[in-house]
Amino acid sequence: MNQLIITIICVLVNIAASAQASKGIYRIPYANGTQVRIWQDHITHAGDEPEIDMAGVGNGPFRIVAAEDGEIKFIQDSFSATTNGNPCNNNYVWIAHPNGEWTKYSHFTQNSVTGNAGLSVGDQVCAGTFLGFEDDVGCANGEHLHFEVGIPFDLNDPITAGGFIKGNEFIPIICNIAGNVFVQGTTDTAGPCGSCLSTLNNTNGTFNNQQYDIDIASVQVSAGGHVVFNAGSTGAYRAGRRVVLTSGFHAKRGSSFYAMIKDCNSSPGNPNCGANSKVLAIDNQ
Ligand SMILES: [Zn+2]
Repeated sequence: MNQLIITIICVLVNIAASAQASKGIYRIPYANGTQVRIWQDHITHAGDEPEIDMAGVGNGPFRIVAAEDGEIKFIQDSFSATTNGNPCNNNYVWIAHPNGEWTKYSHFTQNSVTGNAGLSVGDQVCAGTFLGFEDDVGCANGEHLHFEVGIPFDLNDPITAGGFIKGNEFIPIICNIAGNVFVQGTTDTAGPCGSCLSTLNNTNGTFNNQQYDIDIASVQVSAGGHVVFNAGSTGAYRAGRRVVLTSGFHAKRGSSFYAMIKDCNSSPGNPNCGANSKVLAIDNQ
């Protein structure tokens, strides 16, 4: 088991109005090896929330999987039709993760969650657990997966009757893709996050509105001699054990920054999920 060491939790000045990045780090929620095309990203998706639409490339059926260890909180997979709103009648799954964030998966094939995947509310799932099949049930324009990350305001009343969260939503941070944020029009290959990565990216730079600096390291991350977050920017450093910010790090007024520990080798979640199960999280927001 890793011992968590926190050396600094840093600077917060005037939280940016735009959506924040998720604190969890999630896998692409498709079966390993699936090519996944991003239809709409957190900026282009309809509505004000940082939600994602994506779809398997090639011949389906495509298997949707859990993006991280967690507990199934809600399942709706009784519908069969594509609808046009009022109501949407979406099929969906909500999973609560040990880091406090919830993930949502929408438009499953009828009965594929309770039937094919054999899941029930209250089940503990691991990152990569099969949830059901991609489809176009509900308010969908073609077969795809709608994915989002949020935190309910009230755990006793977390979603609407239609399955929409009553809470804040966050830009999903995804392992093993460029920049760790989904970008419309790109195609990525689904796979596990694995253990904490040793790669350290972007130790130097100036970050402006809507840009993120995401690092994952097994031992230590050091912000380099020149890291500036300008007003409107949001940034994060995440590490397996320790985050060290050296002189030269500067989060300007109006920016939002957090440092957090991602424990890669011990899990307050489901021990059945193996050595790579995770969760975290400590930050100052
Ligand atoms: Zn969507």
